[in-house]
Amino acid sequence: MSTAQARAVFQAEGPFQSAEIQRRDLQPHDILIEIKYAGICHSDIHSARGEWGPVQYPFVPGHEIAGIVAAVGSAVTGHTVGDRVGVGCMVDSCGECVHCHNGEEQYCLEGMTGTYGAVDRYGQYTQGGYSSHIVVTEEFVVRIPDGIALDAAAPLLCAGITTYSPLRHWEAAPGKKIAVVGLGGLGHMAVKFAHAMGAEVTVLSQTLKKKEDGLKLGADRYYATSDAETFKALAGSFDLIVNTVSAQIDINAYLSLLAVDGTLVNVGAPSEPLPVQVFSLIPQRRSFAGSSIGGIRETQEMLDFCAEHGITPEIEVISADRIDEAWERVLASDVKYRFVIDIATL
Ligand code: NAP
Ligand code: ZN
Repeated sequence: MSTAQARAVFQAEGPFQSAEIQRRDLQPHDILIEIKYAGICHSDIHSARGEWGPVQYPFVPGHEIAGIVAAVGSAVTGHTVGDRVGVGCMVDSCGECVHCHNGEEQYCLEGMTGTYGAVDRYGQYTQGGYSSHIVVTEEFVVRIPDGIALDAAAPLLCAGITTYSPLRHWEAAPGKKIAVVGLGGLGHMAVKFAHAMGAEVTVLSQTLKKKEDGLKLGADRYYATSDAETFKALAGSFDLIVNTVSAQIDINAYLSLLAVDGTLVNVGAPSEPLPVQVFSLIPQRRSFAGSSIGGIRETQEMLDFCAEHGITPEIEVISADRIDEAWERVLASDVKYRFVIDIATL
């Protein structure tokens, strides 16, 4: 075992405090990563506060990890010391089921092993990236292309792949009308990706406060959902709606914005239910779907797509003593558009 420095919450309400955590000794296929930056995802907050179910404390969140390979196990072939690498929401899966074979480890039939808040195959409770080091099996470590700075790379490991994957699955392309609900960490990446894929992009935000930003990020149109006229003006108009909202919303109102055969995919993960009226779906053969992050192969594809298209998240780098403040701002929808912790300040 080796000791890593970390920031942890010791109870659901926080606050963050310094902690020491144990990382396993390197197994033959393991990589030791010196973490440089960790993004703050809204899922960190849902998880740490027990909104998705009970967790163990002290709890170290963080699944948007960017760093440098510090050591490799004896059988590692894909990475060497000094490589720039990333780790996202998963650190392991069974490796044998149909979904693992298809490169969709997030749908592993045995359940993927989360980067934090899970028990790994060694019986250890996983602790995330708000920490100095992490040990991860090589299959779950991706390469960060040279053109992407490490601080900007971090949010791609969750916010990036979680929006890229459904846009690819539902074939964002020229001629497609796509709406993104919520302009936060995930939402702003969805706008950039859908725009780069050639779709016509509309942002549906609570207010018009971030309209100028939204248009700069690549949106063609921007509407406030607090204005009832929005739902009249846009009724039946979208092929795909990507809902990134972290809270309960009136999902039937958003389903009414889909065209015939349109799909509303929920990536936002509030703990409260989103009750669907079947008549929001039946008359226009609409679909209501969900999507979980993306597989490792697709995560690498997404990073390479970002390098090729010059796409990076809009970030605000903070020191480790400001995590509590950043969380409050995320909860207040006051984030432009992803907080990233500088791990050197731990
Ligand atoms: P975020 O940065 O807080 O963004 C969420 C956005 O939703 C806010 O910026 C806000 O946008 C909007 N919003 C917040 N509260 C709202 C409310 N009460 N009513 C209407 N809109 C509201 O969060 P994030 O990190 O992007 O994560 C978003 C959600 O995705 C979270 O639930 C997270 O757990 C989930 N998630 C899921 C996956 C997956 O695999 N499916 C992966 C990562 C994250 P406006 O200000 O523009 O309205
Ligand atoms: Zn996340």
